[in-house]
Amino acid sequence: MLLYNSLTRKREEFVPREEGKVSMYTCGPTVYHFAHIGNLRTYIMEDVLEKYLSYSGYDVNRVMNITDVGHLSSDGDTGEDKMLKGAKREKKTVLEIAQFYTDAFFTDCAKLNIKIPNAVQPATGCIAEFIALVQGLLDKGFAYEAGGNVYFDTSKLDEYYKFNDFTEEDLEVGVREGVEGDENKRNKADFVLWFTKSKFDDQELKWESPWGIGYPGWHIECSGISMKYLGEYLDIHCGGIDNQFPHHTNEIAQTESFVGHKWCNYWFHVYHLNTNSGKMSKSSGEFLTVSLLESKGYNPLAYRYFCLQSHYRKSLVFTYENLDNATVAYNKLVARLAQLDENDGELDDAAFAEGKKKFTDALDNDLNTSLAVTALYDVLKLKTNGKTKLALVADFDRVLSIGLIEAAAKIRAEKKAEEEQKAAQTPAYDMSDPFVVEILDLIEQRKAAKKNKDFAEADRIRQYLADKGVTLIDDRTGTTFKIG
Ligand code: AMP
Ligand code: ZN
Repeated sequence: MLLYNSLTRKREEFVPREEGKVSMYTCGPTVYHFAHIGNLRTYIMEDVLEKYLSYSGYDVNRVMNITDVGHLSSDGDTGEDKMLKGAKREKKTVLEIAQFYTDAFFTDCAKLNIKIPNAVQPATGCIAEFIALVQGLLDKGFAYEAGGNVYFDTSKLDEYYKFNDFTEEDLEVGVREGVEGDENKRNKADFVLWFTKSKFDDQELKWESPWGIGYPGWHIECSGISMKYLGEYLDIHCGGIDNQFPHHTNEIAQTESFVGHKWCNYWFHVYHLNTNSGKMSKSSGEFLTVSLLESKGYNPLAYRYFCLQSHYRKSLVFTYENLDNATVAYNKLVARLAQLDENDGELDDAAFAEGKKKFTDALDNDLNTSLAVTALYDVLKLKTNGKTKLALVADFDRVLSIGLIEAAAKIRAEKKAEEEQKAAQTPAYDMSDPFVVEILDLIEQRKAAKKNKDFAEADRIRQYLADKGVTLIDDRTGTTFKIG
């Protein structure tokens, strides 16, 4: 499989360190509010990656943190903790907020068929690990204490900016937002590993540490949790593109300084979902959540389908018009699948292999999900039976996870129930009765007339039967009749 690696800025053959096994780490949500559908785009595409690796035969072990402390409002380490802000907003404790939005996040994930990683670890559960990591960095000379906080010293590294062309200027973001720079830093790019002093001293959750009572920085969480579960080496680390800097850059700096060797081989970054007016936001404009889409009548899986239609390395614009188009396409696809019969024929191995190759070619090419969706449509065009087509769709949906087989089965079941109900309502007539035979014959003639657009003839037949006391009942499954 070819995968774009943000670290080398190239598409590379994906080769895990251990044959057949993949260790994967995902930056989890900051649980101070609902996830917006932009955040969820990232989790959907990471889910596709994980499932495709499993589909390809790898044993994937995936770990995700839950950020319930330490993620400040500014990248410059000086803003207020987002969790505290959330708690104040809702007049609850930080832990109540964390629990509520963690549950809400997994509810959204379930609606979007996003699998829960093998391990999910809230940061507040690993404080001892973070303290050990910070102490290790101090012992090795990569960190220093200043003004009550512990900082990572970026000047100790030969190469700090691992991704793209970030510079010190990118750290100015926080300052532009009106937050003052941190005077304790020896170098502008240094970052906090452990806080005991912050402008916002009413932090709710604090722990004892060798440097005083305080709390961990956001970046140290991911290094600590990843190493706790996956050890000193990692195959793939993922996150949204905004995580590249400073978050992932800092993760690499502190983890590699601690372990003394390269840590993670592949970095997978998902580009943003934007609105027409720009960045997706939780505070301004419409706060786009899965629940909001549902309240407007959208199927969350149609949103997943919408995401799959574009490549993860392209920004995507969300509009209701785009989601409407995806919904129509999704529903049409399901309706077509509902017409297939799984009892139609035996599995056609050659056609199955042909269909599957298009799918794997697409995903082997840097997870090209839009081509994988095309491969799904190509299945419908294959010259083969319903059983094989449905088997292919079920196979692809192990990765795409848009509930196609279930949705098609639901339509089939509804149709069957409708037909059975109609049959139960239709009085049983004696089929050898010449009058019944005549009626059935005329129904067929009327059907043919309608097909030929000879509506006058169709009406004439209806009237002829009406005059004899026969009522015709038309619905989408055909025509039935009632005598008297
Ligand atoms: P957060 O809850 O802010 O820590 O973000 C959770 C995940 O969503 C991270 O991987 C972010 O990089 C990602 N993310 C944030 N905004 C967007 C967006 N507009 N589109 C896609 N992913 C995003
Ligand atoms: Zn992270």
